[in-house]
Amino acid sequence: MIYADNAATTQMSQKAMEAMLPCMQTVWGNPSSLYAFGQKAAEALADAREKVATCLNAADPGEIYFTSGGSEADNQAILSVAQNGAKQGKKHIISTAFEHHAVLHTLQKLAREGFEIELLPVHEKGMITPEQVVAAIRKDTALVTAMYANNEIGSILPIGEIGAVCRERGVLFHTDAVQAAGHLPLDVQRENIDLLSLSGHKFHGPKGVGVLYAKKGVPLMNLIEGGAQERGKRAGTENVPAIVGMAAALSEAVANMAADTQKLLAMRGRLIAGLAKIPHSALNGDSDRRLPGNVSFCFEGIEGESLLLLLDDRGICASSGSACTSGSLDPSHVLLAIGRPHEVAHGSLRLSLGADNTEEDVDKILAAVPEVVTYLRSISPLWKDKLNGKRPFLLPE
Ligand SMILES: *Cc1c(COP(=O)(O)O)cnc(C)c1O
Repeated sequence: MIYADNAATTQMSQKAMEAMLPCMQTVWGNPSSLYAFGQKAAEALADAREKVATCLNAADPGEIYFTSGGSEADNQAILSVAQNGAKQGKKHIISTAFEHHAVLHTLQKLAREGFEIELLPVHEKGMITPEQVVAAIRKDTALVTAMYANNEIGSILPIGEIGAVCRERGVLFHTDAVQAAGHLPLDVQRENIDLLSLSGHKFHGPKGVGVLYAKKGVPLMNLIEGGAQERGKRAGTENVPAIVGMAAALSEAVANMAADTQKLLAMRGRLIAGLAKIPHSALNGDSDRRLPGNVSFCFEGIEGESLLLLLDDRGICASSGSACTSGSLDPSHVLLAIGRPHEVAHGSLRLSLGADNTEEDVDKILAAVPEVVTYLRSISPLWKDKLNGKRPFLLPE
């Protein structure tokens, strides 16, 4: 099998699993218990918190809150700042049109509660500029939330610059860094980030565990009430094995980042060059300013789902923009946001490589995709109409 869907989830690393085992076999006490056996678990937790703080260059490990994943961290960050902003009469929130649903649906909920949500339009190359943010900030802006890197098309936003303009204007800034953590260097201090979300399973850690970074002084509200865990901000006995595994995976990813990036860029370059040769295809997002493992294309005249199923038959795991909304016929909001027409957005393919992929995988993908696209076009009435001139081609040859 060729696994090329690392933006959806990643295989756990050996080191992460090895770090977790003692937390289940020997150090399985409750970190809140006062006896020494419980305190051993508390020490493992403190060590994990320090590791994560180091990877983000947080000023203090006390700024790291463990959550059940990226979605929870996004919800808590946005709802906290919104609630606090409302108390000061600030009910305007700025975000982008191509955020993850964990952000977009939280913002929609706030809109129903009377907040004014402004989603910045995304440029054709999948970019948001600091100038757009500056132009949108008002006196009553409570929060800017913009993703670090997009999960579908891989665009990397100018987060440091956006952070700087927010800090200058006294507006709190949250970034969903789920796709960036472990893959791009992050520095919450240098980049003026007030709140940041990440998720263990996107960098070879376990699923169901994540982090909310909140700079000291940023007010947090609880999504879950109960015990005093996580300094009273996230009740519930900590998932010590998962937290320890996540911290080990993140440290490993950060240590290997330079070498992995080199390898990924070489594979990504070959895939993009190879797939661009398919007629009436288009790369989504910028060719350079994208996650090292992300390749996203639209192929005119095909359905992404059919492409995925036929690639699956050949042992290739990939994703389509529309897969996230499986069960619905709507194309990806990300591809629509960068201006792809509905018909083109339906024919999308996302390959997200990991360091475990090989050049041989790339060869196999480059052999399979053009064949499958050609086959799907050959059985498409829509494609026939295009060839006969009855319908226009939307992407250039
Ligand atoms: C995967 C993902 C999430 C959700 O993280 P979970 O840990 O699965 O809840 C949020 N944002 C982005 C950009 C993601 O890719």
